[in-house]
Amino acid sequence: MKETLTKLITALAFSLFAFAAFAADAPPKVVVLRAARLIDGRGGNVVSPGVIVVRGNRIESIGGAVPAGAQVIDLGDMTLLPGLIDAHVHTLLQGDITSEDYDVQLFKESLPYRALRATKALKIALGNGFTTVRDVETEGAMYTDVDLKHAINNGIIDGPRMVVSTRAMSVTGGYGPSGYAPDVTYPMGVQIVDGVEQARKAVREQIAHGADWIKVYADRSYFVTKDGTLSSTPTFNAEEMKAIVEEAHRLRHKVAAHAMARPGIENALNAGVDSIEHGIAIPDDLLDVMVAKGTYLCPTLIVTEYVAPGRGGIWTKIPAFHRDSFSRALKRGVKIAFGTDAGGFAWDAINEAKEFEYETRYGMTPMQAIQTATRNAADLLDMSDRIGTIEAGKFADIVAVPGNPLSDITAMERVAFVMKDGNVYKRP
Ligand SMILES: [Zn+2]
Repeated sequence: MKETLTKLITALAFSLFAFAAFAADAPPKVVVLRAARLIDGRGGNVVSPGVIVVRGNRIESIGGAVPAGAQVIDLGDMTLLPGLIDAHVHTLLQGDITSEDYDVQLFKESLPYRALRATKALKIALGNGFTTVRDVETEGAMYTDVDLKHAINNGIIDGPRMVVSTRAMSVTGGYGPSGYAPDVTYPMGVQIVDGVEQARKAVREQIAHGADWIKVYADRSYFVTKDGTLSSTPTFNAEEMKAIVEEAHRLRHKVAAHAMARPGIENALNAGVDSIEHGIAIPDDLLDVMVAKGTYLCPTLIVTEYVAPGRGGIWTKIPAFHRDSFSRALKRGVKIAFGTDAGGFAWDAINEAKEFEYETRYGMTPMQAIQTATRNAADLLDMSDRIGTIEAGKFADIVAVPGNPLSDITAMERVAFVMKDGNVYKRP
């Protein structure tokens, strides 16, 4: 009896130990994705059929045999693509065609409420196939983007990988809300920074609170000159802009500049920013500077057409300038990364992937357009070693669209399968 009991206890202890050991060393799940086609984001030919082996949260191999015990997801007549990257979004903004739309969000919505609305925006972005976004400022919601990023990374909410810019910067009189009585106090859409000392301090402060990128507004107040050129009023002077970029780079962070016409673009490029946002009317000589310096253009074509009718005035002329500028940038070989300004339009109003169609309408091939949201955007974000292409060793951020997006680019608006970090968030 005693012997039996000892045997039983030993067996039990052993199995518990074995179970614990098994739980600790459980091999990562292996998933094989199969579809009619594969575009790996590197710009080469379409691979047919497409087979990707995913182990845990990483891509293990492309093609080859199905490992024993693997789960196979057959996506039929679809095209597998790298998870998409939108390098210009505002998850804490829910559409601001007019300044009233904007002010209501800043004055009447609490930061917790804005954060809750942002969780919906992030879910929409992920569902549309965007597994990484660069959020280029919270529009008065302070450092809430840092919290959203942490909530995603800690598995509290679903959303894309986030690269965040926190508050952004402009000068006194350079950003909204505006037009209220001088004695009324209200929140600003950005951090107001005047002078070189404040500029350096703001960069340090934002980075200390979690900013991955620094975002500046380089110009505002757009107008057409007598000779038909789009122009603007610069915000920062050359010294302030240089101080911001110098300080950000010194702390190993990059700078994105909202810049629409020469006064802002030239100032930003002279200071050495890393990306020009919008670039509505970039003169040829400044496109050459961008090529020489390797500065990215993040064009956001979709938003200019979308807000034009509602804003009226000068905005109705902006899309034509934008189209011309984008086409010249493309011809001259400027590096272009996909960005939409989602949040500038309501997240549920249009699928941000409509930007692909605009890129091709303005001169890109479908493959070039796809690369702006994969390899190029990953390069801009310095994340090429982890995302942007389907290659062994990279994060398993993979999407699939029905049919072939090279013959119909609008397929990019119909993402039917989304995997991020090896987890499936959407499937047909
Ligand atoms: Zn924006």
